[in-house]
Parts: sequence; structure tokens; C-alpha cells
Amino acid sequence: MQFLSTRGGQPAPSAAHAIARGLAPDGGLYVPETFPRISRETRLKMAGENYARRALTVLSALMETFPEKDLREAVDAAYASFPEGNAAPLVRLDDELSVLELWHGPTCAFKDVALQLLPHLLRLSKREAGIREETLILTATSGDTGKAALEGFRDAEGVRILVYYPAEGVSFLQKLQMMTQEGENVGVFGVEGVFDDAQTGVKRIFSDPDTAERLKKEEISLSSANSINFGRLAPQVVYYFSAWCDLYSRGEIGPDETIDFVVPTGNFGDILAGEYARRMGLPVGRLVCASNRNNVLTDFFRTGTYQAVRPFYTTSSPSMDILVSSNLERLLFEAAGRDGNRVASWMKSLSEHGSYTPEPDVMQALRCGLAADWAGEEETREAIRDAFVRAHYVMDPHTAVGYSVFRKDRTHARRTVLVSTASPYKFLSDVLPALTGKAVEGDDPFVWMKELETLSGLAAPASLAELAGKERRFTEVIRKEDMKNSVFGFLGLS
Ligand SMILES: *Cc1c(COP(=O)(O)O)cnc(C)c1O
Repeated sequence: MQFLSTRGGQPAPSAAHAIARGLAPDGGLYVPETFPRISRETRLKMAGENYARRALTVLSALMETFPEKDLREAVDAAYASFPEGNAAPLVRLDDELSVLELWHGPTCAFKDVALQLLPHLLRLSKREAGIREETLILTATSGDTGKAALEGFRDAEGVRILVYYPAEGVSFLQKLQMMTQEGENVGVFGVEGVFDDAQTGVKRIFSDPDTAERLKKEEISLSSANSINFGRLAPQVVYYFSAWCDLYSRGEIGPDETIDFVVPTGNFGDILAGEYARRMGLPVGRLVCASNRNNVLTDFFRTGTYQAVRPFYTTSSPSMDILVSSNLERLLFEAAGRDGNRVASWMKSLSEHGSYTPEPDVMQALRCGLAADWAGEEETREAIRDAFVRAHYVMDPHTAVGYSVFRKDRTHARRTVLVSTASPYKFLSDVLPALTGKAVEGDDPFVWMKELETLSGLAAPASLAELAGKERRFTEVIRKEDMKNSVFGFLGLS
């Protein structure tokens, strides 16, 4: 099966080429030429299987290019790093709502579900596309992606990975997670400044002709681990099926019953995977796009204009502090009847004027099966408290944005699954005050960890608790101007 570019340019001949390339040469994102159907019979059979087998069914339909044996090994290896091999346990809160916990992987955020598998997919893709060059992954991170990519790619064959985090822009625990990263092929630098400084620096390296030439001589090609790669999107489709299967196998829904999902959204990758699951035949009713105070998506669905020129707010859900939602482009492509020229013109308008306004028929198609709302900071705190009081359930601020949006909407016709994207232990300085009504004391997150354990009776994830005693391998903070040199230093070429 071919993969089309959302901007209408040359298709990629297979999923392997789409994954190895990442972005299409015309700047578009790759989408499958057709959505394979998972039949009712297969779906009901999947309900009796474990997560890895469910993943194999969905992924081999989406990426038929890989031999099933290879895909099976990849999936088994990737999901062995989750407790009992389950990347998406479903927890029932009450008669209306269940929570899909996607944060039991090595870095305690949902990015693990895709980034534990991506290195395997990249390896298979390079082999199939006949690419022998070494891959250098460069990523700027606002916290979760960088660490999840480091864990996924550590000691992966034919790959080296270098991550830049903003020295002033990540939480202490997130910083510690990166400083203590293990693996022989990894590098981490703090960059003076905020996320945008690190991000701009990485983009500059990607477009620097001198860097390109020197890397080419060394037979190294640059790649990024961000969520526009189809290899990150595909693994996310699986957990929508898995949530439905769990509800069905527990007798909470019937064999043809439709369910809703509420998804805390930033770059639109997570919720888009839900839309892909629907197109593959999963009975999905509404997908609810939940944003924080950076509510550009809510405004877009309401007004019909995507307006990226607006104030930027730093919130307690930093992984959703995004003004340009890259993966929305894939949904626009579908809503525009797969007319890449129209998508290209909107993206041109976005880069030139910071906004675009699709025609009313496109907006109507976009709104079909999708709802959008947002929660402010106070509402997010209240939601964390409310879930604890009502159900003795502790959620992180990202998940709480989704919970708040769910509670505000009183029209629940169907059984709903709230997609939970991070462990509350990753965001202690926001979660604890929301629960206790008091500011946290001191500045030691390991003391706060104990406090939340006492309060909730829920043990802190071992991977976070162990950080205190781990060797800090990467402590260097560099200036933005020195990022390019750091690449060559890391490669031993300077
Ligand atoms: C990345 C992330 C999100 C947003 O997911 P998108 O796919 O970018 O919409 C939400 N919550 C957490 C904790 C994340 O790390």
C-alpha cells in the first residue's frame, strides 16, 4: 500500500519508505492510501487476546509491508517493557467513565507507547527501503518526548540520539530523568533558555547546508522522533481498539456498541489515532478534543479559523502548550476529500499569515464525530480534586484537562473512555496542591513523592523513585549558539 502526502506531492511506495523518510519531500505528512478494515469478527476475537496480539492485528493491517514474523518480534520486544505486557490498562471510575492509563512505560508518559516500538519499525523500514546510513536523531523536548525517545532508542542498532532540553523549561524530575539516561549511543544537553530556544536551534541544524554536507560524508542521515512520523501514529491506533476490547470482554458494552473518547490534546497525534481507529471500523461515537488554556483547537472548531497568532500560556499541562498542532493536517486532508492542493494552500497561509480558514464544507466534515472544549488552570486543579473525592483516583494535570471537559458536558449518551497521558507522579508540584489545597513545602520532589504515596495509597513508579540514586551522566548546559558544535562533538568529529 502506498502512502500519500497530505500536500499532494509524490507518494511513498510503502509504510517502510514513509517511516524511513518521516516527512514527505513537499513538506506534507504521510497518510495510508486506504484505511484497512478490522472486521466485526476480528474485533470480537481480539477482545480475548493480550495487548501484543491486538497490536499485531492492527499494525499488520496498517503496515502490510513488514513480514508478520518481524512485526511480531518487534511488538513483543516493545511491549515487554510495560507491566504484564499491557501498554494500555483500562480502569473503571464509575458507570459512565473509564480511564485508559497509557503511562506505565519506562518514562511514565504516553509517548512510550509509540516510542518503545518506533526504533524497531525504523530498523525494519531502513532494511526494507535499502537504507544503510546511520541515523542521527535530534530532538528538542519540552519534557516528555525527549526522555521517551532516549529510552526507546538507547542502544538501538544503527542509530544515535541527541536530545536538547530547555534548562529553564522542564520540571526537576524531568531534568533528572534525562541527566541520568543510560545507553552508549545517547547524548543530552541542557540549552540556556526556554523550549523555543532549543527547538529553534534544532531546526537550524536540520536546515544548515554545512552540517548536511559533513554528515553526508560520514554516511549519517538526520531524523527526528516527533509525532509527524507515521511510525509514531500507527502504534497509537492500537490502544483505541484495546480499550473497546477491554470494555467488551468485561461485559460493560455489547458487541456492536459505540463508545466515546475524551483525549487531552496538544499536537493532535493522540486524538487523530482515534479517528484512524474509527476509519478502520472501530465503533467510535464522539472523539472529544480537550485543550488547556492554549485553546487554539477549540476556537478552530467553533469559529472555522485556525488562528496561531495569539498569546502563549505556560500551564500545568506543559505537553499541551502548543499553538501549531501539526497532526491536524492529516485530518484536514480527509475533510478536504484528500485534495492535497487545498491542504497545501492552508499550510502556506499558516506559515505566511499565522492562520487559515477552510471552506464551510470542510469545517462541516471536520466537526463530524468530533467535539472540542478546553479547561483553564483553576478548572484543571478542581478536576484533580474532584476525581480524587469522587473516585479516589489521582490524575495528572493533562488527564485532568480531559476530565474537566468531560464533567462540563452533561450530554453523555455513551460509555466514555478518558485517555490518560501521564503519571501523576511526574507532576507532583501541581498535583499535591490540587489535592491538599496547600502549596508544596520545600523543593525536594522525593519528599513530595512520599507525601503523595501516603495520601493516595498508590506507589510511585519505580523508574521515578530510583532517580535519586542514579549517576548524573549529562549535566552540561550550553548556549544556543553552541548547539551545532555539540552535534559534531557528540559524533567525535570536531
Ligand atoms: C504529548 C502529550 C500530550 C499531547 O498529545 P498529542 O499527541 O500531542 O496531542 C498530552 N499529555 C501528555 C502527558 C503528553 O506527553
